[in-house]
Amino acid sequence: MTKIAVVGTGYVGLVSGAILSDFGHTVTCVDINEEKIQDLINGKIPIYEPGLESIVQKNTYYKRLSFTTDIKSAVEDNEVIFIAVGTPAAEDGSADLQYVLQVAKNIATYMNGYKVIVNKSTVPVGTGQKVKEMIQTTLAEREADFSFDVVSNPEFLREGSAVRDFTHPDRVVVGAESEKALEIMKEVYRVLYLNETPLVETDLETSEMIKYAANAYLAMKITFINEVANVCEKVGADVQKVAKAMGQDGRISPKFLNSGPGYGGSCFPKDTIALARIAEENGETISLIETTITANEKQKQKMVDKIINGLGDVDGKTLCILGVTFKPNTDDMRDAPALVILPALVKLGAKLKIYDPEGRKEGTWRLKEIEDSIVWCETSYEAIENTDATVILTEWNEFRNLDFDKVRQIGGSNNFFDLRNIYNKKSMIEKGFNYYGVGV
Ligand code: NAD
Repeated sequence: MTKIAVVGTGYVGLVSGAILSDFGHTVTCVDINEEKIQDLINGKIPIYEPGLESIVQKNTYYKRLSFTTDIKSAVEDNEVIFIAVGTPAAEDGSADLQYVLQVAKNIATYMNGYKVIVNKSTVPVGTGQKVKEMIQTTLAEREADFSFDVVSNPEFLREGSAVRDFTHPDRVVVGAESEKALEIMKEVYRVLYLNETPLVETDLETSEMIKYAANAYLAMKITFINEVANVCEKVGADVQKVAKAMGQDGRISPKFLNSGPGYGGSCFPKDTIALARIAEENGETISLIETTITANEKQKQKMVDKIINGLGDVDGKTLCILGVTFKPNTDDMRDAPALVILPALVKLGAKLKIYDPEGRKEGTWRLKEIEDSIVWCETSYEAIENTDATVILTEWNEFRNLDFDKVRQIGGSNNFFDLRNIYNKKSMIEKGFNYYGVGV
């Protein structure tokens, strides 16, 4: 059993902390957001992540998991301290490290013995060294002399399936500079290690680079199939069959080959831009990633054009929008395509009736600038009722089996924009719909 503190209790920190406690460690989750910590102490989960609540409740009950805003005792009482705070894009696109470095400073301020400081946030190459310097400088100011190790342990979980991803990772990457830190990390992940999860042991810099390279590659793969989809539309080919056959090639794999409105979320947009900046700062260009970023922006605009072309004009029309989160099974809307597509439609005169199973809270403030043109609905059918088109933006399961007889009865439109390709074009046309997918 290892005593662990996780600083930053967001999508990554809360999942990591809860599951590490489920592995049998004693974990203290720390955050500066008092409301979040108070909710967690009261058993309320601040995010929507399937399967997480019961793990949090169980481990809180068995006193393996606790929540606090008191960073001082969290640092003093634990040997392994994870940093899992946000690294949003700064104005120039590079990763903003202020939160990571603030936590490093806090750790050094309260350090009372050997600590392993584990960076789980996605950070540019060289950040591990910056964290080390921050700790050394702060310790020197305190005239204190404690040994410590900085470790890089990037996280690959996906929101919406985070519990499964954390408990069944394809690999665990650990960048460490000492044998002692590596052994402690092996102990932290021993449960996975026993299940034969591969452990990639490397240096700090390589570990930091692995995360950016992996995310940028996945973003590029999505963008590739989106661009192929756009060509398919022009030449009369079916991108879904193209993607399926491509994916059957073992060298390619079928994952991340679903065409749609462009990638979004809290990682790909900022991580691709940050990688391009890292390259630039080091006198290199990653032109594939630069192009990916531009093509992804264009893809969102193309969805607006698709709707305009399909309807002729959206001025004065009411559109039903199904889904606003960047993917299903999350309430996260950071950099969701909806944040570009919906304001663009409203600017052209559209009114929106929106339903998202978990996205309303986020959507209400993130779409505040167009709130006068939005009516939030409680069900798909309420949103569909008396509209001029239905637009599927996020592929929540409950949108996959709409009752089209009911859609007709309640005045739903024949215009159906399926931006996630969850329906079959042929059968939708047979049902009498003007069906628009992406690349089909
Ligand atoms: P998040 O915004 O959900 O959570 C960050 C938390 O850190 C917030 O609760 C915030 O209040 C807290 N925080 C900020 N400063 C703090 C401080 N000084 N002390 C204590 N707490 C502080 O972020 P996230 O989505 O969990 O992402 C965290 C990191 O993990 C990022 O670097 C991200 O790129 C990376 N990552 C995210 C995902 C994902 O799917 N969200 C997946 C892999 C990696």
